[in-house]
Amino acid sequence: MNTHEYQAKEVLQGYGIPIPKFAVASTVEEIHQGIKSLGQNKLVIKAQVHAGGRGKAGGVKLATSPEEALILAKGMLGMKLVTKQTGKEGVIAHQVMLSEAVDIAKEYYIGCVIDRATAQPILIVSPEGGVEIEEVAERSPEKILTLPIALSGHLRAYQLWRVVKFMGWKGALAKQGMKMVAALAKAFIETDASLLEINPLVVTAQGELLTLDAKLAIDDNALFRQPVLAKYYDPTQMRAAEVEANLHDLAYIALDGEIGCMVNGAGLAMATMDIIKLYGKEPANFLDVGGGATKEKVAAGFKIILSDPNVKAILVNIFGGIMNCTTIAEGIIAAAKELDIHVPLVVRMEGTHVEKGRLLLEESDVKIIPAKDLADAALKVTEGLK
Ligand code: ADP
Ligand code: MG
Repeated sequence: MNTHEYQAKEVLQGYGIPIPKFAVASTVEEIHQGIKSLGQNKLVIKAQVHAGGRGKAGGVKLATSPEEALILAKGMLGMKLVTKQTGKEGVIAHQVMLSEAVDIAKEYYIGCVIDRATAQPILIVSPEGGVEIEEVAERSPEKILTLPIALSGHLRAYQLWRVVKFMGWKGALAKQGMKMVAALAKAFIETDASLLEINPLVVTAQGELLTLDAKLAIDDNALFRQPVLAKYYDPTQMRAAEVEANLHDLAYIALDGEIGCMVNGAGLAMATMDIIKLYGKEPANFLDVGGGATKEKVAAGFKIILSDPNVKAILVNIFGGIMNCTTIAEGIIAAAKELDIHVPLVVRMEGTHVEKGRLLLEESDVKIIPAKDLADAALKVTEGLK
């Protein structure tokens, strides 16, 4: 689950990490109040959307007077932002941040992620901040240092010294930097984050370290034990299909291809996507309806798949285990009654109650193309498409 910059900053503040003063507004009235409470001439106005790259897309602007701040903030409220990370449909900023403007001497990057390759949390730091870390990694990988983080969230003294040396921090700056990096790692572990980054972390002209931008993503699977953070859920920042999938507890990820997939079990879903590729096409989505899906859930899955205009055919691939084949058949029939399934529908079912499931589909008036195995299904779902 992604969060907004101001929410990430609130979390970091709780860990004693220094943040420039800010206010958040979702109405013009709140913009007035924010400007007044900050009481400064120079303010940075920032669109609050679940995406980075706002600076280059007009979502971060400097105002040099309260009047200008008002105009800029009003203009940003409700603005649709299209950045490198939003896709071309963009996202709407329903809130703006008014932040104290900072006199920047240098920008750095510090962040924590789960590293899939080594299956552990890691700290990533770079003296080249402001830009995306992927860019730095490509252009000059020697400017990035990564270190493992213990599951306790505690960084060892020698690790902190390595960071300080790598960043070139000396004296008071080194002391401040160590404190911040240690607090960041602790916050990362304690919030069950999948990503927590400060980019840029800046040294001000006055020689102080400050967080100018922050990003926090929480592991969805941990939200049950993060009730405070769970309240940060903001469906306005997500694609409609993903919001709907969350509502029905479906694991859904939109992709760019043409073949909609409805599968039970993540492993089988991956195999289904692989075989579609093997037959020369691309999957339109990953959708795992789960082991214990009901027919309502299956119907919701269809609705989500069909809401994607790129979908030209659907492949249902179910192995009836805990969820038996009659449930999926009933789900397909219910969905077909409610929706116009206007694309070819290939169904491959195996497992518990398969004969009964097939019979239900045969006796219904839903137009389906039955497949005898996975290869047959992949062939049938791809062959009609150019
Ligand atoms: P994004 O990463 O979405 O583009 P940032 O918050 O990182 O947004 O802002 C982009 C750039 O704007 C920063 O790298 C920094 O140079 C500048 N900036 C952001 N906030 C401030 C601030 N409070 N004072 C001065 N400059 C800022
Ligand atoms: Mg940034």
